[in-house]
Amino acid sequence: DNPNSMVIETKKPYILPEVRTVYKTFGEPPHDHIRSWLGVPLIVQDKIIGLLAIDSVKENHFTDYDVNIATTFANQVSIALENARIFKETQDQALTDPLTGIYNRRGLFQIGEFEFLRARRINRPFSVMIFDIDHFKRVNDQYGHATGDQTLRGLAERCRKSSRAVDLLSRYGGEEFVILLPETNINSAKLVAERLRLSIMENPITTDSGPLRITISIGIAEANHTDTLKTLIERADEALYNAKHAGRNCVKVKK
Ligand code: GH3
Ligand code: MG
Ligand code: MG
Repeated sequence: DNPNSMVIETKKPYILPEVRTVYKTFGEPPHDHIRSWLGVPLIVQDKIIGLLAIDSVKENHFTDYDVNIATTFANQVSIALENARIFKETQDQALTDPLTGIYNRRGLFQIGEFEFLRARRINRPFSVMIFDIDHFKRVNDQYGHATGDQTLRGLAERCRKSSRAVDLLSRYGGEEFVILLPETNINSAKLVAERLRLSIMENPITTDSGPLRITISIGIAEANHTDTLKTLIERADEALYNAKHAGRNCVKVKK
């Protein structure tokens, strides 16, 4: 019981010369000052995405001339909104990984650089953790690529749940993940990493091939005064390399 619905259903402009005679709600606050009404649809590629509603305190206010002006304006509004939506969608896609929904490497550097520089500027601790699934090739070989993908999704979800809101989680490569830990020194990072390693080891990931147990190897490093985000991640990656060589399923620190 609302003129908006009429515009949305018909996708056509709608003039109400005397609103109250058609819709009772226009006799009540907060609409009771409105005497006539014009609605024009916002349309993108034959789909209605909204409408513009224009009120007048005078009866019989709107003419075909007004409909033309409002429609021309509405068309520009639709294009602007659609462009903004596409722009945002493209930006999100470029920064996130479609499989896991978390940041990709590009997103990590774009969003993480800001946090990293902020920590440096105000002289706060900042650590990074990089981890890699142990013998992940075997998962693919034994259960197939689809189960491998599910494992990656489940792992990302697990990390997201156990991370703080400020931690920035990303898929750095195939089965390598990086987590930025603002306000975290190396000792705390070690605790965080150890907790994550244990939780992954102890709680199997649900897949169509059944519950799957995996382990991860983790490298961590804390930012020093000469680090960039890139060199910091590289140093953590050296620790990860050491963790693999120490037999996997462990945490190593880059001094
Ligand atoms: P380790 O790290 O313990 O040395 O052994 P690994 O078997 O995990 O080693 P490696 O890094 O060489 O192999 C990574 C494997 O990850 C190879 C590749 O098939 C798999 N992989 C990478 N990206 C994806 C993906 O998007 N989906 C699936 N299913 N597998 C992936
Ligand atoms: Mg790897
Ligand atoms: Mg691996």
